[in-house]
Amino acid sequence: MTVVFCRSRRGGRRCTRELDHRGLHRHRTIMWADAGADDPRCTGSGAPGAPAELLSNGFPAGRALCPVCLRFIPLVGARFLDEHDTAGAASAQESLDRADWFNTHGWSEGPTGQQ
Ligand SMILES: [Zn+2]
Ligand SMILES: [Zn+2]
Repeated sequence: MTVVFCRSRRGGRRCTRELDHRGLHRHRTIMWADAGADDPRCTGSGAPGAPAELLSNGFPAGRALCPVCLRFIPLVGARFLDEHDTAGAASAQESLDRADWFNTHGWSEGPTGQQ
């Protein structure tokens, strides 16, 4: 059985309580309310991007790799990363494909990355 954790963060630390818990969020001895949580919007939102190379199964289907959160994000106008947050849990299939992608293409951008 998988425990799904709460998505709130503060100072980059993730709440270690279960999803939809009551009361304050908590990471070890640090506690916070929703008002004190980090903005979940990823700072990579709106950054320039280009479609990542495809795996044989078509993943990631024209999405670009966000350099901040290392997720695959749809492009707006084929040039900019769509607004996204860093809190959403990836599906099991997405996680598998992502791991596969990094195994195939590695973590570095390489010399073709354009800014
Ligand atoms: Zn929480
Ligand atoms: Zn991001």
